[in-house]
Amino acid sequence: MSELTIGFVGLGNMGWPMAGNLYAAGFPLVVRDAAADRQAAFAGGHPGVTAAAGPGAFAAADIVITMLTDGTVVADALLGWGIAAALRPGALVLEMSSADPADTLRTAAGLAAYGVRMVDSPVSGGVPRAVTGELSLMIGGDDADIARAQPALRVLGDPARQFRTGALGTGHAMKALNNVVGAATYCATAEAVVAGARFGLDPKTMIDIINASTGQSFTSGMFAANVLNGAYATGFMLGLMAKDVRIAQSVIGASGADAPVLALTGERWARALGDLGPAADQSRAHQAWWADALGGSDAAV
Ligand code: NAD
Repeated sequence: MSELTIGFVGLGNMGWPMAGNLYAAGFPLVVRDAAADRQAAFAGGHPGVTAAAGPGAFAAADIVITMLTDGTVVADALLGWGIAAALRPGALVLEMSSADPADTLRTAAGLAAYGVRMVDSPVSGGVPRAVTGELSLMIGGDDADIARAQPALRVLGDPARQFRTGALGTGHAMKALNNVVGAATYCATAEAVVAGARFGLDPKTMIDIINASTGQSFTSGMFAANVLNGAYATGFMLGLMAKDVRIAQSVIGASGADAPVLALTGERWARALGDLGPAADQSRAHQAWWADALGGSDAAV
C-alpha cells in the first residue's frame, strides 16, 4: 500500500482504466465523476475506494489527478465544485486532460490561492495504452512538483515515453500541436485519395503505396484500418480531435506564428464537427468535406 492518497476526477474512457491501474498499484483512492452512476460503479468494483460524496472527501488526497473533457471542465471541478478548497496546502494537481494551456494557467493561479501546486501531463496512446499503463506523457511544470508526481506518472505512463516539455502549460500546448499535425495530415491524405480516385486510381492501391512511401503517416495507417474498409472505429471521437485542433489555433494565435495550413485545418475540422457531431469517430471527418472540396459527394471513398 502506497503512502500517497490519490484523488481521481473523471472516470471516462481514459480515466477509468487509469484509475484502475493506480488502484492495482496499491494507492488509496478517492474518486469523483459528475456521472453519479459511473462513480458508484467504479467504487463498487474496487473495494476500499472512496466515492466522493462531496468535495470534502479530497481533504485526504496528496495528489489529485484530473482526466476531464477540457480545461473549463477542469476549472469547474477543482475551483467551482470545491475540490481546491478542500485540499491541504501543499497538495498537487496533476492535470492529464487535453486542455487549452491558457485555461491551465488560469486554473493554476486559482489553485495557488489555496497553496495547491499544478503539473500538466496530457497523454497520447488512447484507451489501449491507458489500459496497459503505457501512455506517452508530455509533462510541464516545476522540477520539484514533477518529482512529487512521479509515483503516479510511473504507473500511468511508459517511463521511456515521458517527455519533459518545460514550464506549466507546455505539455498542453505540445499535445494540441501534435494533434493538429495529425489533423492536417488527415486533410491532406483524404484530399489526395479523392483526387486520385477521380483520376482513376484505386483508393486501396493508393493507400498501400502511400503506406510504403514518403506520404506515409499515422493517418495513412488509419485510412487502411478504418476508412477504406468502412470500419470507422479508431475509438477517438471527432469532438475530441476537433477540440485539440481548436486548442492548437489558440496556441498558434498566442504565439503569433504564421500558420495558414493549420488555420485551414482548423476550419475543416470545425466543419466536420458541425456536420457529423462530436460522437462520430474521427476517421469519418472526410464525410463532411466532399461537397466543398469536390463539388459533390464522392462514393469512391
Ligand atoms: P470521456 O468523455 O470518456 O470522460 C470524461 C469524464 O469526465 C466523463 O466520465 C464525465 O462524466 C466526467 N465529467 C465531466 N464533467 C465533469 C465534472 N465537472 N466533474 C467530474 N467529472 C466530470 O473522455 P475521455 O475519452 O476519457 O478523455 C478524457 C480526456 O483525455 C480528454 O481531455 C481527451 O481529449 C483526452 N484524451 C482522450 C483520448 C482518447 O483516446 N479517448 C486520448 C488522449 C487524450
